[in-house]
This record gives sequence, structure tokens and C-alpha cells, in this order.
Amino acid sequence: MPVDLHVHTTASDGQHSPAVVVARARQQGLSTIAITDHDTTDGIAAAQEAAAVSFPPFEQPRIIPGIELSAEDSVYDPIKGRETGIDVHVLGYFILLDAPGFQDALANFKDDRLTRAQAILLKLARLGMPLEWERVLEIAQGGAVGRPHIARALVEAGYVESVPDAFDRYLRTGGPAYIARARLSPEGAVDLIHHAGGAAVLAHPGYIPHYSELIARLIPVGLDGVEIRHPGNNEHVRANLKAIASRHSLIETGGSDYHGEAVKPDIRLGSFTAPEGTLEALQARAEQYRPA
Ligand code: AMP
Ligand code: ZN
Ligand code: FE
Ligand code: FE
Repeated sequence: MPVDLHVHTTASDGQHSPAVVVARARQQGLSTIAITDHDTTDGIAAAQEAAAVSFPPFEQPRIIPGIELSAEDSVYDPIKGRETGIDVHVLGYFILLDAPGFQDALANFKDDRLTRAQAILLKLARLGMPLEWERVLEIAQGGAVGRPHIARALVEAGYVESVPDAFDRYLRTGGPAYIARARLSPEGAVDLIHHAGGAAVLAHPGYIPHYSELIARLIPVGLDGVEIRHPGNNEHVRANLKAIASRHSLIETGGSDYHGEAVKPDIRLGSFTAPEGTLEALQARAEQYRPA
């Protein structure tokens, strides 16, 4: 049965609550989903509860506790002639939510997201597009605030046509209203996931120009897998990743990166899934990081 290992909810920048996402997973015939919100595990308990109360025992989608940590890498840009930041996302699977220090680290990330979102609003106001801070918080529904929430507020205020338009014109990395988050290195993200007893997987390498070099750096740190089946990886990237994964015994994973239609209009839940055996492989790796 199909398994979608990359799913967002209202705990971060997904459009739908954990309960709605679980109901849709069932409708799509998925046996398992991993909830992988940005820098938070707040949606996981609600998803597990929804699965348990909404369906009879043999029809419950299985919910894997996951996370997608935002890190940043610095690469030299020969055109600009200086170092520039590149977003790197690291997925964690089978994490232990109450691992010592883990939730404290996540609470710091959440604070940082609030400060950063306010700084982005300041930039937008200077560009002639004031937004209400309260409205952005409402759109975020108590979840970890991210650029997609601001993008939706921009659409609502009539400044842009759509969320992708908001990113293209203002919010994209390096765009006129972009502000970076506090830096967590890719190595630090892998480490934090291992400390939480989870397996660490490099998300959507197709978005990372220097992914081959980055993977080579993360293997000695203990990277467990790479997300090969993802809408952001083209055929060429996938073939390349498959070769890297088999050479270094990395687990091949897959998921849709579902955010809901208002955020990513063409991504359907379950449209990308993991190969057979992925869950077992991830779980076995995660167990190596658990305290004895
Ligand atoms: P943040 O966590 O605030 O840096 O926002 C990153 C999130 O914004 C990504 O995980 C995507 O969900 C979304 N995103 C990034 N680029 C785009 C884009 N061009 N169009 C729509 N959504 C995007
Ligand atoms: Zn997102
Ligand atoms: Fe991502
Ligand atoms: Fe994602």
C-alpha cells in the first residue's frame, strides 16, 4: 500500500489541519503518511488521534512521527562574487518527541520564525505593501509561521495573484522581501535528528544546486537517506541520486510535499510515494540512534 513520507499540516505552513490531512490520506488509499512539518512536531499527536478515532482498526492510516528541519548552507556564487545562503531541508523520521532538549531546540526555532516574519512584513511595508501582523497569525492558525502564510496574506490583500506569484516577485530566497532564518547548518540538522532518535534524510535535493557535494559532506556525519521521489527532482536529478544512494547505501525515500491546494495548487497528497521497504529501512536506522 502506498506510503507518502512528506506531508505538511497547519502545525506549520500546510493549509489543512492534521485531522483533515488524515481523512484525505485515507481517501487517497494511503496506508501510511509521515507528518513532516517545518521545525515542529505539534501536528503529530492530533494526526495520530484522528487516525485512531475516525477509522476502524484495520482502516487506520499509520502516522509516522517526522519533521522537516530548515537549515542553511553557504555557497560561493561566482556571479555575485560572494557567499550566498541556500536553503537546505533535512527530514527526520521515527523521531522521539520527548528526547532530551529536542522540544527546547524547536521552541527556539519557532521564536526565530516569528521575529523573521515580522522583519519580512517590515520589508513589504517599505515596498508599499503593508500587511496586518494579526492577519498573518490568523492564517498561520497557531502553527509555526512561514513564508507561505505571508504569501497568502499578500494574495488576500490583492498585491499578488497567487502564492507562487508572491514567491516569484517578493518572497523567494534572495527576493526583495526575503529574510533568512537563524542559521542551522545541514550537519547540525542531521545531528539534531539523530539526537531525537530519528533517521535523517536530505529533502528535495533537486532544489539544492550543489546537492552532490552536500551529500558527500553529510555521509560522514551519518546521513541516512535521500528523498529521490519528489516533485522538485527532475529525471536527471533522480538518476544521479539513485547512483549516489546505491554507492553509499543511503535509503531512497519519497513523498509529495503536500501543503494543500491554496499553497501548492498542483500537488496532490500521495502523488509521490516511497519505494517498498523504505519504512522498515528508516526504522532500523532510527533504532541505532536510540539510547540503549
Ligand atoms: P519558510 O519555511 O518560511 O522559509 O518557507 C519555506 C516554504 O515555502 C517551503 O517549504 C515551501 O512550502 C514554500 N515555498 C518555497 N518556495 C516556494 C514557491 N516558489 N512557491 C510556493 N511555495 C514556496
Ligand atoms: Zn512548507
Ligand atoms: Fe522543504
Ligand atoms: Fe516540505
